[in-house]
Amino acid sequence: MTYTEYKDKVKKISNSIKKDKRLITTNRKGHNHRDLNFKTEQQKIDTSKFNCILGVSDEFIDCEASVSVGQINRTTIPNGKMVPSLPEGDNFTVGGCLGGLALGSNSYIHGFFNNNVIDFDVILGNGDIITNVSKNKHSDLYYGIGGTYGTLAIITRVKMKLINCDTYVKIKYFHHNSFKSFYLDFTTKIKEQNNDFIEAFVNSKNDFTIVCANFIKDVKKEDILVIKDKSILKQRHMCIYAQIANKKESNILRLVDYLERYSYSAFWGHYLYTPYKLRDYMYAGLVYSLIPRKMIQGDGLNVGKYFLAANKIVGDYARDEHVLTTDIGVPLSNLENALNLVDKMTKTYPLWICPSKDNYHSDKIFSTRKKELCEDNMIIDVGIYGIKNTTIDSKIINEAFEKFSFENGVFKGFFSTCYFDYEQFWNHFSKEKYDKLREKYYAKERFMDIYEKITYRNDSRKRSKKTMRSKLFTFFGKQYLKQINKNKEKLIKKI
Ligand SMILES: Cc1cc2nc3c(=O)[nH]c(=O)nc-3n(C[C@H](O)[C@H](O)[C@H](O)COP(=O)(O)OP(=O)(O)OC[C@H]3O[C@@H](n4cnc5c(N)ncnc54)[C@H](O)[C@@H]3O)c2cc1C
Repeated sequence: MTYTEYKDKVKKISNSIKKDKRLITTNRKGHNHRDLNFKTEQQKIDTSKFNCILGVSDEFIDCEASVSVGQINRTTIPNGKMVPSLPEGDNFTVGGCLGGLALGSNSYIHGFFNNNVIDFDVILGNGDIITNVSKNKHSDLYYGIGGTYGTLAIITRVKMKLINCDTYVKIKYFHHNSFKSFYLDFTTKIKEQNNDFIEAFVNSKNDFTIVCANFIKDVKKEDILVIKDKSILKQRHMCIYAQIANKKESNILRLVDYLERYSYSAFWGHYLYTPYKLRDYMYAGLVYSLIPRKMIQGDGLNVGKYFLAANKIVGDYARDEHVLTTDIGVPLSNLENALNLVDKMTKTYPLWICPSKDNYHSDKIFSTRKKELCEDNMIIDVGIYGIKNTTIDSKIINEAFEKFSFENGVFKGFFSTCYFDYEQFWNHFSKEKYDKLREKYYAKERFMDIYEKITYRNDSRKRSKKTMRSKLFTFFGKQYLKQINKNKEKLIKKI
């Protein structure tokens, strides 16, 4: 793929945007739990064609916007290089990571994904093309685009910096049975920056594990946990949480497997939601056969679609009342209060704890903290992915998280179900800066407003309560989740 071919693709899209006057969106389903019905009435830009790596050097990798994390890892790691702060799954795209928000377990050193972007190209709402947006060229757009979730422009190319790496990592697990000892160890490790990667887990109220990974050079083949790439069998081992549940002290992984450790297992999700036992296979088969064909998009039995359908029973509107997938941002200094709130509202465990350096800049809008309220430069992503074990309404839970996060100068992830109050939202983020940017770069008339986009589901949820999918979820999914919850310990521990 050459830059000339890339430019032709960009030109084609630019022309189609100029001709069509509807609102613009990408054609991606992506990674979010919002209702995407709004896309049906908008001009869908096929960003999937931007799937080529344009150039690699020792310092950078230059990619079209739909190049995935998996493609990057497999290109750079054999050359001893990696992109810092990539999210831990192989199918996120660089356009999505820049337009949305992404972090990884080395973000505590390198900041969010967007902090490691050198420059990028966009197509604006009027069809104009802006190239090489950087700290020095259109810097307002460079800093402002992170976290705008596709409401500013279509990203077509992203160039990212590379850092050195080795092919293997040794992972160590540090177990703690009180918040106090966990916090002391965690804050010390973050401050010292002696580990290449850090994340932590709250296994239950007083059970914590810090996971540190470090590059190693000399490795005996028999010591490596998994060696086969893309093997379905590895998903159970790949989930670091499985190692924690088994109280492992350490293990060795190929770097690529470490970086994509949650791709296959969706954190610990597949342990809980993907059927492993015969009964569960039969159960999922039943659900599969009942799901309307058009939802599965295609005829005949297909293993991939079977799993997709099985997962869909926990991917429904009604599922919010039973399953949570949400990330709240909190300052490291207030982590204890955040964990107490999550425990009180959800009793959901495990929780993912991922630290990221904030790198505040005044032109950032949705990708940094509110400095007046949060002096702490270390932001923690508290990931709550699992079955809700309280009877509190999901709406009340999410609103409590949104309020807590805002009060602490940070925010809850926009990709999950959001209930942000309009006043509260724009009291936290600068509407003036956002509107000015949208006006300047011709986004106002052509891209949905961010508040509308991330809270869109609130209205459609009301409309969609009676869909076949919702009925199926309530009928089967609830019972299924109950079964999983009952067997959670066994499912996770049995590797
Ligand atoms: C189950 C789950 C697990 C997750 N795990 C992690 C994790 O481990 N680490 C982490 O950092 N994040 C995680 N996330 C959040 C995820 O990183 C972000 O939602 C990210 O933006 C998704 O990237 P994507 O390529 O799938 O983008 P999409 O979901 O397709 O897009 C994200 C946003 O960016 C916009 N966008 C996408 N492509 C373009 C483009 N070319 N031009 C303009 N706008 C565009 C879209 O409109 C959308 O609003 C998770 C989300 C889910 C649902």
